[in-house]
Amino acid sequence: MELQFKNESYYFPDLSPYRFGDAPPFERVLRIGWLEAGHDYQRGAVDDEVMAKLTEIKASRWPTLFHFGLIRGSYSCTLCPKGDRAGCSTELLIQNAEKPGSYFGCLSMIDHFIRDHNYKPPEVFLSSVMKVDLNRPFDAVLSYDEAHLSVDAMRDVYEIHVRRVAGSTAPENRRYRQWLEEHGFWPPREKQS
Ligand SMILES: [Zn+2]
Repeated sequence: MELQFKNESYYFPDLSPYRFGDAPPFERVLRIGWLEAGHDYQRGAVDDEVMAKLTEIKASRWPTLFHFGLIRGSYSCTLCPKGDRAGCSTELLIQNAEKPGSYFGCLSMIDHFIRDHNYKPPEVFLSSVMKVDLNRPFDAVLSYDEAHLSVDAMRDVYEIHVRRVAGSTAPENRRYRQWLEEHGFWPPREKQS
């Protein structure tokens, strides 16, 4: 998978499906708020309660975690003046309230776009944000993977992740082994040598 972004364009129209390189797009995750200088976007007021909910969503931590894409690099806002640009290093995955099993993916600085650049996301996104249940376990990393990888692919990747995070005490790193256990893939296969 091609991971890029630094100094490259990351503009995508609202509600366009995620895709990487030449791989087919996956419709279960739609982009929201991938703004960039030179591309027009919808403007308008967004309710304070939505902004407050976004703040809570960003602050929530595993086992109710909305951040994903943590290793994909950093993003800086090209709508801000050069030298003084807001930035972020994660994305947020928000359940699509109108389509169970589907999601919206946005940069975690979406609140910055709204507050400082008058961006107004589509209504379906705003209503989905308001319907997020902060008391229900949710793992954006797992859900994102399940939205675009087959079970076999996840098994391969998660066996690697289990080894990679073996020494980590971060609670969310339990997710890989838990997923393998829940799917009957634990203990992992013998490594071919
Ligand atoms: Zn900005």
